[in-house]
Amino acid sequence: MEIVRTEEVNIYCLKCQEKMVLQKAEVNYRNYYYPVELMTCPKCGQIYVSEKVQQKMILVQENLEEK
Ligand SMILES: [Zn+2]
Repeated sequence: MEIVRTEEVNIYCLKCQEKMVLQKAEVNYRNYYYPVELMTCPKCGQIYVSEKVQQKMILVQENLEEK
C-alpha cells in the first residue's frame, strides 16, 4: 500500500512555536490502520495535515471501503 506522506515543509506548531518534524504515524479508519507520514510537533504531538494530504487520505479510505 502506498504510504500517505506529507512533503517536508517548514511549519511551526501554533501552540509551542516548535518546528514540526516528519514522523511516521498510523491512522485508524473504521478498524483499518494505514501508515502515514505527517508533520508532527515533537513537543505536544500536534499533527499538521495539509489539504493535499487530506485528499490522499480520502483516496486511501475509499480504496479500503472497496475491499
Ligand atoms: Zn506543539
